[in-house]
Amino acid sequence: MTALPVTPDFKDTPYWWEASPLRDAAPEPLPEQADAVVVGTGFTGLSAALTLARRGTSTVVLDAEAPGFGASTRNSGMTAFLLPTKASALVSRFGEERGGAMQRAAVEAHDGLAELIADEGIACHFARCGRFVGAETPAHYERMAHELDLMARLAGVQGEMVPREAQGREIGSTHYHGGMLLTQAGALHPGLYHRGLLERAEAAGAQVHGHAPVLSVSRQGGGFRVQTARGAIAAETVIVATNGYTGPESPWLRRRIVPVGASVTVSEPVEPGLLESVLPTGRAMTDSKINIYSARRSPDGTRLQFAAARGLLMRDPRRKAAEVHRVLAAVFPQAAHLRIAFCWTGQMGFAFDRQPHIGARDGVRHAMGYCGSGVSMATWLGRKAALQSLSDPAGATPFDGLPFPTRPFYRGRPWFLPAAVRYYNWLDRRDRARAA
Ligand SMILES: Cc1cc2nc3c(=O)[nH]c(=O)nc-3n(C[C@H](O)[C@H](O)[C@H](O)COP(=O)(O)OP(=O)(O)OC[C@H]3O[C@@H](n4cnc5c(N)ncnc54)[C@H](O)[C@@H]3O)c2cc1C
Repeated sequence: MTALPVTPDFKDTPYWWEASPLRDAAPEPLPEQADAVVVGTGFTGLSAALTLARRGTSTVVLDAEAPGFGASTRNSGMTAFLLPTKASALVSRFGEERGGAMQRAAVEAHDGLAELIADEGIACHFARCGRFVGAETPAHYERMAHELDLMARLAGVQGEMVPREAQGREIGSTHYHGGMLLTQAGALHPGLYHRGLLERAEAAGAQVHGHAPVLSVSRQGGGFRVQTARGAIAAETVIVATNGYTGPESPWLRRRIVPVGASVTVSEPVEPGLLESVLPTGRAMTDSKINIYSARRSPDGTRLQFAAARGLLMRDPRRKAAEVHRVLAAVFPQAAHLRIAFCWTGQMGFAFDRQPHIGARDGVRHAMGYCGSGVSMATWLGRKAALQSLSDPAGATPFDGLPFPTRPFYRGRPWFLPAAVRYYNWLDRRDRARAA
């Protein structure tokens, strides 16, 4: 049996938790009453809490696990203004006015993230390093060029197409057929960004409680009763911010969100010159497949981060690391000798219509459905959900009022996911084979 390409001190927890461990303090008693309860302590929940607390609303934020346990401290830390639905599809589905407004909202969300980090002084290595999006086939390259033109026209997105002959300046790989360069895209350290947001929300007066799973939310008088495993809280406002971790406490939302697992790997420290060979400009990289690959330098510039094989939650992290390593070696042969030091998984929340959703059901507010692209959108929609709960017109978004679809027989357990992932992988392989 060949040895797995992992380091002896391999960890299956996020690399981000090294610099920013989850806070696991002993649980404190919960209050019996608050103006607002936010369920979920990721970017959505904390952004909502920060907004509410700054407006003088007494706010309690609850998590079933330690604060930040979900995707917000498990993601790849790449930031941009790409919605899960492409600009052309937004325009054909919603028309140019509303589709364009959605694309502009994504740009506004990303600009807002940059402003928040700067204004709050959150040290999280945020930089607008840019992103190279590799084209898996020549046809994808043509489609990307069209999308870039459209995003530039609708929302002022800045970028350029890089033909295959010139892509070596952006990426040390011959895998792609050129690609799209998004110069304003960025990257950050998700653990440090999350901690910064948590500290700002608490400093503003919000109470953040881990290990307080919400079991149900029901009407009580003119407000709500939030039943947790550690007691009940009466609140005027409830915002559910559980995205890919939504459970039986929110049956209506659970029927609308598909939890999709994704794994990220980080290598052992690399030798001098390797990162410059893999990602010469220091930009982040993703690609045009359905089941995308992504790569970036670690924020301290010592390791290579690589992600592939979205879809299923991992059973054996070492084997998942080996699976991702095979892809890494195929795309970047010069990095094939690297061993994987970290491989972890998180759950993304997909909506069936591939749209982010914000709204209220029976008075309980929600913001979720970022489909794997939520660092800036979760921050933005969390804030918007809070403003909407305060009846502030600044809370309006072009996503308001979208129907939130489900599917017959779907109750929150994605039994169809293994087959769907196999089908999407087959489509990716077919496209590539046709282009060969
Ligand atoms: C592996 C991976 C890589 C990603 N990479 C990127 C990327 O590079 N760029 C990007 O923009 N996006 C990326 N994303 C997506 C992004 O991380 C998410 O969209 C975003 O973090 C969602 O934030 P959230 O606050 O809505 O949810 P989460 O951060 O998932 O928080 C939800 C929280 O709800 C809690 N919860 C659930 N049920 C209950 C309950 N009953 N009671 C109390 N608490 C509860 C959970 O414990 C969890 O902490 C990635 C996601 C994953 C998983």
